[in-house]
Amino acid sequence: MDLGIKGRKAIVCAASKGLGKGCAMHLAREGVDLVINARTASELEATAEEIRNATGVKVTTVAIDVTTPEGRAAVLKACPEPDIVINNAGGPPPGDFREWTRDHWIKAIDANMLTPIEFIKATVDGMMKRGFGRIVNITSSSVKAPIDVLGLSNGARSGLTGFVAGIARKTIKHGVTINGLLPGPFDTDRLRGTMAARARMNNRSFEQERDMSAAAHPAGRFGTADEFGAMCAFLCSVHAGYMTGQNVLMDGGQYPGTY
Ligand code: NAP
Repeated sequence: MDLGIKGRKAIVCAASKGLGKGCAMHLAREGVDLVINARTASELEATAEEIRNATGVKVTTVAIDVTTPEGRAAVLKACPEPDIVINNAGGPPPGDFREWTRDHWIKAIDANMLTPIEFIKATVDGMMKRGFGRIVNITSSSVKAPIDVLGLSNGARSGLTGFVAGIARKTIKHGVTINGLLPGPFDTDRLRGTMAARARMNNRSFEQERDMSAAAHPAGRFGTADEFGAMCAFLCSVHAGYMTGQNVLMDGGQYPGTY
């Protein structure tokens, strides 16, 4: 299927690996020129080169922390008028809410709520004026079914989701959609990191923990960044123009509810 976005320009935040990289690669395959971001310059440049070689699109890198005002300004300077914005950043650490201070909360809210809101604020009016825009916020299945040890994520991402629910209805008339894409367990460095920690806690090897976890999942496996990227690219396509303010859960059937 031709997604109808060839020649468009996209910002993909936090995209040197994992889910962000999957989104960047799929947009590039559709002929979208990219500005990609992450903090570690060497990994980011390696990913950019991989995408250029695979697709031939223009890929510009901005190695910076996107959760800071300077970081966001640098990304926007590299692409002041994007047609597509994929909001993403690292997730907050797990823990017990009794140990979290105001600083922990501010950091999580900055990364997973205010940074996407700042990107929306900086780009949505231009998109509406030009008559086309797609904004996808990578959040988490925790928006639908909270994960107890990820209280910082549950809270910050729910804040973003509530904000987007309001404005997404104001932009669609002008060709701009804003949706959330909610990953369940995907086989990325982040998932491997949390699994290694759980393995240590449970006195199991990483492989035992991973295999038990996958076996307990309805799909019998974790998702791949490639599958995630394909869904993200579809949400950015011309075919998804009548879909806004939605929270698309992609978790291989893990969420047990009917609705
Ligand atoms: P990942 O494989 O660890 O990749 C994270 C990417 O984000 C890397 O490119 C990293 O590069 C970049 N990054 C992190 N913090 C950044 C920052 N402050 N500024 C710019 N770039 C930053 O993680 P992932 O699994 O793709 O997760 C992406 C998001 O989805 C996270 O918010 C995560 O919590 C959420 N999520 C993931 C899963 C899952 O199963 N994988 C499930 C639910 C939610 P640098 O470190 O070099 O900056």
